[in-house]
Amino acid sequence: MSHSADGALLELRRLRKHFPIQRGVLRRTVGWIRAVDDIDLEVNTGETVGLVGESGCGKTTALRTIVRAVEPTDGEILFRTNGEMKSITALESDALREVRQQIRVIFQDPQSSLNPRFKIRDIIAEPLKAYGVTASRGELDDIVVDTMERVGLDRAYVNHYPYSLSGGQRQRVGIARALTTRPRLILADEPTSALDASVQAQIINLLLQLQQQMHLSMLFVTHDLSVVRHVSDRIAIMYLGEIVELGDTDEVFQRPRHPYTEALFAAIPKPDPRQPSRRIIVEGDIPDPAHRPSGCPFHPRCRYATDLCSTEKPALENRDGAHPVACHFPLPHGEQPAE
Ligand code: SF4
Repeated sequence: MSHSADGALLELRRLRKHFPIQRGVLRRTVGWIRAVDDIDLEVNTGETVGLVGESGCGKTTALRTIVRAVEPTDGEILFRTNGEMKSITALESDALREVRQQIRVIFQDPQSSLNPRFKIRDIIAEPLKAYGVTASRGELDDIVVDTMERVGLDRAYVNHYPYSLSGGQRQRVGIARALTTRPRLILADEPTSALDASVQAQIINLLLQLQQQMHLSMLFVTHDLSVVRHVSDRIAIMYLGEIVELGDTDEVFQRPRHPYTEALFAAIPKPDPRQPSRRIIVEGDIPDPAHRPSGCPFHPRCRYATDLCSTEKPALENRDGAHPVACHFPLPHGEQPAE
């Protein structure tokens, strides 16, 4: 992990992705799901930012919007190219392909993200062809073997098919595929959650090692708090499509300011070798995103909520010198309210 003095590599400005809710034969729009709602976030060069929240909070949609797998509804995505921050929000064709070489995704489930009919060499080489990198067959083979070695995969697997590999090996292929274009930013979408607990640590350590070696920046999406604490320099806590707390990982873990963050951390079980994955559990269900609560979106589940919370939405702000939080009554409170 490292903080960088080189400035932002990726910057999201009020990024928004709303999906229409359509009903009836005429598919009339009767409402909107605000999957990503006005997110501001930076990832600095060489930095890992963890994007954390329960499933359905919008973190994967945010990631997909950055690579324009889904188009943003509003807002701006900036990426550093030739030393300058440039908008990539509306790029098309060749310019978009070039950016996609630099921003690569590692997917959650290596089983479904690898084409079962392709040999490992073709899977790993595929992005080079897709993004128009010209190389002879011999050069491609060299890149494939070199990348396999980087991710700890024996070159003997080069002519194998994905089914003959273990889950951990398949995820190494997924990582190798993300690295062949020599990206600068990796978007990792729950890259270990489909793996056995014993393999998760190996993959996390591999990602950390590659980040150092290749000077990569990472946006790491996860609901696993133990993973995020291990890999991230900073974390952003997401709730119902919004970032509600943002700060240095150690600071947020030691001094959570948002009641949602506090509830997430309180749900972390005590260390237990039989339970390596720490899942998020918060009282009550995440509200239907189509029927968003008024005021603070967390108020129906918040033990500190007041009348103000149900009417007025708190902005994500840097209050009293601490890291930014979107709450009218950031923690710690002088006196805890009665249960
Ligand atoms: Fe809870 Fe109110 Fe803060 Fe929202 S604004 S998190 S309801 S105390």
